[in-house]
Amino acid sequence: MNIALTKAIQALAEGLGFDAWGIAAAHSLTPLQPESPASVAYHRYLTWLSQGKQAGMQYLSQNPSLRMDPSSLLPGAQSLLLVLQSYFHTRRHSSPIAQYAWGEDYHISLRRRLQIIADYLARHDAEARPFVDTAPLLEKAWAIEAGLGWLGKNTLLLNRQLGSYTFIGGVVTTASLLPDAPFREDLCGTCNRCIEACPTHALTPYELDARRCIAYWTIEAPTLEEGMPPTHGWIFGCDICQQVCPWNRFAKPQGEIAFRPKPHAFWSREQWSQLSKSQLRKLQKNTALRRSRPEKLEVFLRSP
Ligand code: SF4
Ligand code: SF4
Repeated sequence: MNIALTKAIQALAEGLGFDAWGIAAAHSLTPLQPESPASVAYHRYLTWLSQGKQAGMQYLSQNPSLRMDPSSLLPGAQSLLLVLQSYFHTRRHSSPIAQYAWGEDYHISLRRRLQIIADYLARHDAEARPFVDTAPLLEKAWAIEAGLGWLGKNTLLLNRQLGSYTFIGGVVTTASLLPDAPFREDLCGTCNRCIEACPTHALTPYELDARRCIAYWTIEAPTLEEGMPPTHGWIFGCDICQQVCPWNRFAKPQGEIAFRPKPHAFWSREQWSQLSKSQLRKLQKNTALRRSRPEKLEVFLRSP
């Protein structure tokens, strides 16, 4: 176990402006370890897939076991660094766009900084590979394993200090780093606010039915179908199950320049509806809005 390298990586994560970080040992998790919260999260994930609640996100069903095996991403992996970056801006929220898409595309900023950590590890004779969303790893489960929080009933990672408005990224490495203790508590308790507030009844405790979720339809759905739930004014994503969560009372406005809200964050639906397709396309550049298509944004601008 390389303690000096562990400390250096932790200091680097802090210096690069991440809001929280933790280290997990890169063993392969199985879904039948009730004492392991990450394993429980994995078990729930497999159950969720078996019920078809991933809707059209079929890529999630492919090789789910690889998501719990870091060596699938980097042969010889021994450790994972997981980082959280807050994107919280405000509790006064009337935008039809989810807060995570208010600033620059988070992939750019997170990947650039995680690559700096990977390069540092490479200079210390370790292989390392950064990941943000795109790797076949169940990032929320690994964040729990790295001690960063618990899986809330709204299915998001909740961190005691930051709440749930956070991006997750990480670096998998062959370096042997000192792991943090997994987060073993579930601090949702008897609260059910997210479940009660979801306007389309997409949530049951710890499970989201994507077929009913506004965020799924406005961002992820490969095709739009009859029977979609109403989008309740949202045109990209939905923040309701985060807005009502008491743990987000502790969220502080984030300080990362790249995520500062761009002007579109404050536009009304009327302002959005006046944009041409080419203006929408231009706006999508370098923001997370590019995960949708201009035609799709137009559909939801006309939805109730
Ligand atoms: S994102 Fe919106 S629609 Fe989806 S589960 Fe949360 S509150 Fe419900
Ligand atoms: S609203 Fe309540 S139940 Fe839902 S994630 Fe937050 S604390 Fe958990």
